[in-house]
Parts: sequence; C-alpha cells; structure tokens
Amino acid sequence: MIDLHTHSNFSDGSDSPTQLAQRAHEVGLRAIALTDHDTTASHDEMAAACAHHGLELVPGVEISLLDTTFTRPSADGGTAARGVHVLAYFLPLASNHPVQRLLARLREDRRQRNDRLVRRLQELGFIRLTRENVAAHAAHDEGVGRPHFAAAMFELHPEIVGARTPESWSRLFVDWLGASGKAYVAKTNVTIEEFIDVARGSGTVFSVAHPLLNYLPDYSATSINERIPAILASLRERGVAGVEAYYGGTNQATRALMLKLTRDAGLIPTGGSDYHGLFKRDVSLGVGLSGDLRVPDEVLDELKAAR
Ligand code: AMP
Ligand code: ZN
Ligand code: FE
Ligand code: FE
Repeated sequence: MIDLHTHSNFSDGSDSPTQLAQRAHEVGLRAIALTDHDTTASHDEMAAACAHHGLELVPGVEISLLDTTFTRPSADGGTAARGVHVLAYFLPLASNHPVQRLLARLREDRRQRNDRLVRRLQELGFIRLTRENVAAHAAHDEGVGRPHFAAAMFELHPEIVGARTPESWSRLFVDWLGASGKAYVAKTNVTIEEFIDVARGSGTVFSVAHPLLNYLPDYSATSINERIPAILASLRERGVAGVEAYYGGTNQATRALMLKLTRDAGLIPTGGSDYHGLFKRDVSLGVGLSGDLRVPDEVLDELKAAR
C-alpha cells in the first residue's frame, strides 16, 4: 500500500514530517509522498524520518494553479478562471531552480491572499480575527491556509459560525471560504500551462489532485460520465501525466469509474488519502475518508517511468 497525497504542519496538516513518517510506518505504507501546499520545505525532515523507517519517499508538492479552459461561474454571473490543485512529483528541490522560484511566487500569492482574506472577513463581521491569531494555528508562517482561517473563525466567532463539528467545518467552507462562499478571495495567477512549461525537462510528473473536487459541482455518475472525459483529454494535451483517480475522499464506485475514465484518457491513475491530521479529522492516512482506499504499488512504477 502507498499514499501519494499527504500534508504535514509545513502546510495545513497537523503532524510534523517526523510524526507523519512514524504514522506511515505504523499503518504499513511502503511508500509515501508528502505533498504540502506550494512548498517543499518539509522535504528534508521527511527524508530523514522515512530513511529511519525504511520507507520510500516520493518528492512532491500540491500546487494551486488556474485552469482558464474549464472556467467556473463567478459571483457577478460571469465566469472566472478555475483554481485547481495539481500534484507535482519528482520535482527539483534546489532553491535556485526555476520550478522552485515559481513555487516561491505561489507562496507570495498565498501571503497576499491571506492578507486580503483577513480584511474581507473583518468587513463581514469577524472583527476579532487578525493575521496573527490565524497564524497562531499554523506551525510555519509560510504554510498558512484556509484551514487555519477556519480554526480561527471557530475559536473567535462561534456566535457567527457555531461550534466546531465535522458538519459545521464543511459548512464554513461552503458559506464563507470556498469558491462560492461570501469571503472567497482567489489566490494564484499562475496557470497550469505556465507551471508545466517551466518544469519541462526537469523530470517533474504532474497529476491533477481530487479531479471531482476541482471540476464538478456534484459527484453523480451521470455528471462524471458527461464531463470528465473532455476535461481529462484536455489536461493530457496540456502535459498532465496523471489523475488522482484513487482519491481517498470518494467512495469505491466513484473510484472505479474514475479509474476507467483515467485509463481511457491514456493517463496514469494516482492516488492518496489527502491526510491532514487534525485539520481533516475524518480522513485516515493510507485508507482515506471511507477507510477502504487502497492505492496499488504499481502506480508508483508508472509515475517513475513517466519522468
Ligand atoms: P488554501 O491552500 O489556503 O487555498 O486552502 C486549501 C485547503 O483548504 C485544502 O487543501 C483543504 O485542506 C481545505 N479545504 C478547501 N475546501 C474545503 C472544504 N470544502 N472542506 C474542507 N476543507 C476544505
Ligand atoms: Zn490542504
Ligand atoms: Fe487539494
Ligand atoms: Fe491536499
């Protein structure tokens, strides 16, 4: 069993890389990719911890990019570029590499988005929320993201968002922080094509994370069959090698359908739990939300062959 989508406290997970590797060892993973948002700063600690446990580490990152082909409806009734999460594996780690410089730009976009999001939430009545008390929920300042905002909103303004439960946590993203929420602030200006272009020749392999979360309003088999094939064909043309068909947040039937469509499109089906520790309390490392996720080891061999 392998898990190619996990987060540490260098982004919006709660485990340190050392704790994450320990847990991966305990659940019996053979290989793991640590895919923190927009940063590989967690890599060195993770590499040391994985070596200690004899666990294979796949270098990775989860990046926030724009898809300008398959747009989303915007608040003013028009359309806007769609923010999508893309997993990049085997990327260069040297800080002066163009890929890392582009990641630094994404982190700067994130910092500016966070500042704007604080102001927006204050305008909407979250008057006790500040940049400092959002950052207090994160272990590393550069990794601050929306889950840390959510934690601060529950802590400081229960009169607006209620008490924190798994249901109210999801609802907060729908009502406030998600793409159709009242406080949504777009983050990145870098497109999928631009990132792939900069990475050309570097051995980086791209896989679109949680494709349904990125592209579909609902997860019905009918909408998947209607819309996903054209999206996958387009992504493949743009240089994406894989799709996260084995996503830990979807059920067995959905994963089977996505696996078939991924193969039909000539893409590699990758997979992972999207483990975030205490920031996604119902998601378990390796086995995902449903508990029955199993990502086959062979997927990793296909990814390596695509470098
Ligand atoms: P950011 O990187 O700041 O844009 O935040 C993105 C992160 O917010 C995702 O990786 C998830 O951890 C979390 N997130 C986004 N949408 C939702 C949602 N609907 N429910 C729960 N968590 C979400
Ligand atoms: Zn996250
Ligand atoms: Fe994601
Ligand atoms: Fe993720």
